[in-house]
Amino acid sequence: MLKMTKTLCTRSSGGDLRYCQKCSHYKPPRAHHCRVCKRCVLRMDHHCIWISNCVGHANYKVFFIFVLYAVVACIYSMVLLVGSLTNDSLEDELQTGGSFRTAYVISGLLLVPLSVALSVLLGWHIYLIFHNKTTIEYHEGVRALWLAEKGGTVYKHPYDLGIFENLTSVLGPNIFSWVCPSSRHIGSGLNFRTAYHNAVGASMSK
Ligand SMILES: [Zn+2]
Ligand SMILES: [Zn+2]
Repeated sequence: MLKMTKTLCTRSSGGDLRYCQKCSHYKPPRAHHCRVCKRCVLRMDHHCIWISNCVGHANYKVFFIFVLYAVVACIYSMVLLVGSLTNDSLEDELQTGGSFRTAYVISGLLLVPLSVALSVLLGWHIYLIFHNKTTIEYHEGVRALWLAEKGGTVYKHPYDLGIFENLTSVLGPNIFSWVCPSSRHIGSGLNFRTAYHNAVGASMSK
């Protein structure tokens, strides 16, 4: 099974080296071709229409922290909005003839769906980081799991190194820099540590 895991990282399911027909070069493990950016992206997660760029190896941590801060900002805005509604509504209404109420309603209508959407996105990426997966690898994994079950074998995501190691590989080894947009720890993005390396390292140290 370990041998199969290593093969999945660097080669296609057919056993050949992963090759991009559009860029005419070999693809490192976890890299995928983006049709919108028209290039291969290292450790590609997805193409984000909101930032009009791919989220991949170089900017994944910054993207994740951006979503985290956006959720915190939404929660803070919600607290301010609800606090204002409960404390000042009567006073403001008397002074301004109800115009504040319209502003509160518009803010709430924008804030609630934005908060829900960003929270779902944040939760999804926390799940992916815990398992050291990209969005593409999640969908590939679903298919690989189904094929493995059909063939009577076991499939395990090769880059899942355990929750703490998964967190440090994405967010950095220093816990205090997890919420800072630093990216010195990310490496070249051409190769990644796998459960296979950990298993070989453990057996050699015995
Ligand atoms: Zn390509
Ligand atoms: Zn792209």
